[in-house]
Amino acid sequence: MYLDTNFSGCSSGIGLALAVKMAKDEQKRFKVYATMRNLAKKEPLEEAAGRRLGKTLEIKQLDVCDEQSIKACVNSIPDRRIDVLVSNAGMGLIGPIECQTIDEMKTVMDTNFFGLVRLLKEILPDMKRRRSGHIVIISSVMGIQGILFNDVYAASKFAVEGFCESLAIQALKFKLQLSLIEPGPVVTEFERKVFEDGMKMDLSAADEETAEMFTNIYLKNYKQIFQSLGQSAEDVAEHTVKIILAENPPFRHQTNTLYTPMTTLKYADPNGDLPIDIFYKMVFHHDKIFSASLNFIKLLRWRSRKSFDLGKPSQ
Ligand code: NAD
Repeated sequence: MYLDTNFSGCSSGIGLALAVKMAKDEQKRFKVYATMRNLAKKEPLEEAAGRRLGKTLEIKQLDVCDEQSIKACVNSIPDRRIDVLVSNAGMGLIGPIECQTIDEMKTVMDTNFFGLVRLLKEILPDMKRRRSGHIVIISSVMGIQGILFNDVYAASKFAVEGFCESLAIQALKFKLQLSLIEPGPVVTEFERKVFEDGMKMDLSAADEETAEMFTNIYLKNYKQIFQSLGQSAEDVAEHTVKIILAENPPFRHQTNTLYTPMTTLKYADPNGDLPIDIFYKMVFHHDKIFSASLNFIKLLRWRSRKSFDLGKPSQ
């Protein structure tokens, strides 16, 4: 097996970790085209790729918000052949919606949702013609469950999930595979930037209670949630490679089993009230329960750190 793989958003985080992991594959099964919006940021990737640079890994420019850059990138690949597409580029946005502009929200939708659509409009027809290809999308647990003050980000990932669920039926007809990778919190640039933007946010458009809720509940617990539940980019990359290499890759794969009980609540109650109720209680009524849950999660994490397997992931 030799797979030409194309990734978006490889200057940092999950994209960088995954591109490097696949480029360094001992069996040399992949040729990686790692792309990024701004080539001036390629140094960390070059450094991490080391001797594989120019061999199993090539760096190319691609902005998921620019159709021409996608076309130019795909045209520069021999025979435009992409066996595995990893759609990873994305951005976050937190805070009360009354403090966010419509333009800020559109940028999130344009990157996280239309970025994927643009990639597929260029790459899917070739895959259909060849009747082979695997489309791997870095979605999020927020693609299936909303979280306080992540309204627009969750909406962008829900859009991704709905789009893919529809497309997966057609993909099956063309013998293509489609997989949504759904990480929980991951400690990357994303988390740092989202937190910093939240701290700097002008909250004057929000009422006092909402501003207080954002600052003293959400932001106060933000770092602790990432410390307790957060995976590393390398953990997510490890899960993703297993999905790419699986004979029958699943349509959805959550990378963080510590988070699974929360997403399972959604399927346990067809009315949809259960997860909202539990989140409400955790956030507003049970500061102590919230801290106890985080401690319990830390314990589980410590106990399961050593075992890792696709069927029973450790995280
Ligand atoms: P990151 O910020 O390190 O990586 C995101 C990458 O996307 C960056 O390299 C950025 O430059 C790139 N990007 C943004 N806009 C782009 C554009 N228009 N064109 C091309 N590239 C662009 O963060 P990450 O955590 O590695 O995020 C990767 C993916 O994982 C995202 O889709 C994110 O939504 C998803 N995710 C992250 C977390 C988390 O907690 N960090 C959790 C679940 C899902």
